[in-house]
Amino acid sequence: PNGSKDHVSHMALDIGGTLIKLVYFSRNCECSVEDKEDKPSNDSLLVSNDHKKFQLLKGSFHFAKFETSKINDCLEFIQCNQLHFSGCKHHGDPTNDKCIIKATGGGAHKYGDLFKEKLGICLDKEDEMDCLVAGANFLLKAVHEEAFTYINGQKEFLQIDHDDLYPYLLVNIGSGVSMIKVDGDSKFERVSGTNVGGGTFWGLGRLLTKCKTFDELLELSHQGNNRVIDMLVGDIYGGMDYAKIGLSSMTIASSFGKAISDNKELEDYKPEDISRSLLRMISNNIGQISYLNALRFGLKRIFFGGFFIRGHAYTMDTISVAVNFWSKGEAKALFLRHEGFLGALGAFVSYEK
Ligand code: ADP
Repeated sequence: PNGSKDHVSHMALDIGGTLIKLVYFSRNCECSVEDKEDKPSNDSLLVSNDHKKFQLLKGSFHFAKFETSKINDCLEFIQCNQLHFSGCKHHGDPTNDKCIIKATGGGAHKYGDLFKEKLGICLDKEDEMDCLVAGANFLLKAVHEEAFTYINGQKEFLQIDHDDLYPYLLVNIGSGVSMIKVDGDSKFERVSGTNVGGGTFWGLGRLLTKCKTFDELLELSHQGNNRVIDMLVGDIYGGMDYAKIGLSSMTIASSFGKAISDNKELEDYKPEDISRSLLRMISNNIGQISYLNALRFGLKRIFFGGFFIRGHAYTMDTISVAVNFWSKGEAKALFLRHEGFLGALGAFVSYEK
């Protein structure tokens, strides 16, 4: 439809509290070798900064994200690439044809009228939890080398036996966090969640560091040292471990607990140290709550998704260490290459229903 040799067959949206995720599939795309990170192969992932592609079957999935507060950028992207035509019955003109696009996330409800008005398309709303689970199951079954562990800086891909996938705990870290016990295709229960999630990291981080973008805040955390801000066991025990209960001197006793000096103000702490402490606090907390929920239901595998993770080494390391520490090595934290697109992919596969 857009004059190129790509033929967009479907598009789906996940309009979240912070980000809009867009997925579309184009058939017969040989153009996707540019912007790649991995070597192209039938199932390889091709990544660029904001727009991702991976080749699958006889076409390619394309991934894009936009800030929800800049929804017009998303509308423009859809219009420029004429993606909305994919929802029309005969790929025709949306003004004469009823165009329907699958969409999930709260924004599918909030922005339905805007999509109708600006692009003439109807958002066909799919339940958010249904989509998260469908998207995770799709990735775990259909995509080679999707899930991996991250231990001591090493990524190790997991071979998933389709007959031995369930049950598992899915933890989606978006603006907020959902924890879902998944027992099968469309068989799941949201067992827990926490309001301290990606939105908290970004919101608090912005207030405390004056960073202008999420990536800037994340980048800062690379360079920081959380020991300046966090109170460690060693700070309390004069540099010693509290060995009797298995706490090393390096264990954080109290996140931000050292930032209490009378003669130090916020400006006296480095933004990079603050960012690192904050990232550590939130990742640790989510790792711990996830493990407690896995324990409640005897689940050994915990898959983490959501755009908070962003393939960020320090985040994944902290979550892995937390799960490993609290479970005494019994449970595993697993990450997904397409972590941020579970809901959008779930909406996409719902066309098949
Ligand atoms: P939601 O569906 O609630 O928007 P997402 O899975 O899209 O959730 O994750 C949103 C979170 O991802 C943010 O709260 C933030 O922590 C993180 N994030 C990652 N990249 C960005 C970005 N470019 N802009 C804003 N937040 C981002």
